[in-house]
Amino acid sequence: MKILLLGKNGQVGWELQRALAPLGEVIALDRQGTDDLCGDLADLAGLAATVRKVAPDVIVNAAAYTAVDKAESEQALAALINAEAPGILAREAAALGAWLIHYSTDYVFDGSGQARWQEDAATGPLSVYGRSKLEGEQAIAASGALAVVLRTSWVYAARGHNFAKTMLRLARERDALNVVADQFGAPTGAELIADVTAHILRQITCQQDARHLAGTYHLSAAGETSWHGFAQFVLAHASRQGVALKVSAEQVGAISTEAYPVPAPRPRNSRLASGKLESTFTLKMPPWQQGVQRMLDEIQ
Ligand code: NDP
Repeated sequence: MKILLLGKNGQVGWELQRALAPLGEVIALDRQGTDDLCGDLADLAGLAATVRKVAPDVIVNAAAYTAVDKAESEQALAALINAEAPGILAREAAALGAWLIHYSTDYVFDGSGQARWQEDAATGPLSVYGRSKLEGEQAIAASGALAVVLRTSWVYAARGHNFAKTMLRLARERDALNVVADQFGAPTGAELIADVTAHILRQITCQQDARHLAGTYHLSAAGETSWHGFAQFVLAHASRQGVALKVSAEQVGAISTEAYPVPAPRPRNSRLASGKLESTFTLKMPPWQQGVQRMLDEIQ
């Protein structure tokens, strides 16, 4: 099997390089690409030429414009990378008869209510980033490609920038720390996302006719917490590991969304129901704490 991986140095892309390696030949590109292959999602013609040249069996797109707040003032760039480029990848995949695996986000929802979001729930993005990701999903659906779109949430990894690592840094540097306590979701490790992707790919490619497996799935770790709960968990674990913190887990202040204004509104309810993914691919999502602990042990 030949796999074209885009965005190889992002949180998820980095872990995909590891998880996809045993499945076949992986041609992994970052934005810079190689001498003869373009990995820049902003270059639509270059991207299409790359797919034609590589002629992969599967395209895995881990590249995205993920600067959620910056996207509010860079609408066109966010749309180009998160909507138009996945549309091109999907059209090229359809022309080749290749599969496309793509990642999307809980930010396609408006965050209302407290129930876990099912895949067929009405979308209603609150931000430019969320809209651009939804448009990416729609472009893929319109292409007729065999595609699996995995919506995930609150991604962290040992490598890259994320909330958990920011909390660790701030708790070492600052005298006080306040974190939003009224947004709920499940922190999901890039490792888990990459491993689940590999399991899905295996099942898709081992079946005679796997077309019925194409579709949108929610992929998040089990359980839920708030950003405040997530921060407390990270700091409690760090302090058990002997990390010197100026702010302990118990001292983290709980604040409302309104008390922490940011350019892009965030959904309050980011709880994703992963039942469809679990039953379709015979998987079981582990509790979110498990992966966070592992990541913290790794970075110490
Ligand atoms: P990261 O921000 O860690 O990685 C995104 C990657 O995309 C980076 O390596 C970045 O490269 C690359 N990229 C950005 N612009 C371009 C471009 N024009 N051409 C090629 N590559 C580009 O994101 P994650 O790994 O966390 O996200 C993976 C997927 O999961 C994305 O689809 C994202 O939308 C989705 N997701 C992420 C969540 C999160 O909390 N992070 C939550 C829910 C969904 P460079 O370093 O050069 O900028």
